[in-house]
Amino acid sequence: MFLISKDYWEVRETKEKGRGVFAKKGIAAGTVVGDYLGRVIKTAEYDLDRDKEGLYLMYLTDEASIYPDLKKPGLHLFNHSCEPNCWIHTYEGHTLFFALRKIEPGEELTISYLFAPEDGTKPTAHVCKCGSKKCSGTMHLSKEKYEAWQEQQAREKKKAGVVRFTFGKNLPRLKSYPKRIESGDYAAFSSSVASSATGASASASGSASSA
Ligand SMILES: [Zn+2]
Repeated sequence: MFLISKDYWEVRETKEKGRGVFAKKGIAAGTVVGDYLGRVIKTAEYDLDRDKEGLYLMYLTDEASIYPDLKKPGLHLFNHSCEPNCWIHTYEGHTLFFALRKIEPGEELTISYLFAPEDGTKPTAHVCKCGSKKCSGTMHLSKEKYEAWQEQQAREKKKAGVVRFTFGKNLPRLKSYPKRIESGDYAAFSSSVASSATGASASASGSASSA
């Protein structure tokens, strides 16, 4: 579900990645773009082979994942990028997408799919065609970035406490949403913030942004 109004985004065909979501107007850094809603299903029961065209499952916990309504436009249409301009913030058991930096009109809104690292012995299972200068050719994260992300997730989950999910039901929308997420907290993941953002404070401490 989008949390920005319809005049800020549109769904268009991309050249190589199927459909994508594009900004129609500028979107400020930190803006909460949407909430990944759908049916709560058991993570272990999901058959990954069912989705030949795209991976729409949103992992919540080892037990619960979200499967979106594919008939409606939603956050499942965000394509992966090695230099995404959006990122994930876990909030009260929900998965919010927010703008990591200012997004210009016409830009595609992208996210990292945050796939676990591969061991490199086989060709990647998920070829990336994001077209960014830093494209690694795969949607799987490096070991360093993945570990940094796991740590961040653990912190966010601790803050949220225990969240109960009802399997087989749609995840209901929250009563209220944060308007902004401090993208500075995510500097470790956003080499893109330092390299391509216009006027963002580019000195993002650099600790984990070696990529
Ligand atoms: Zn890429």
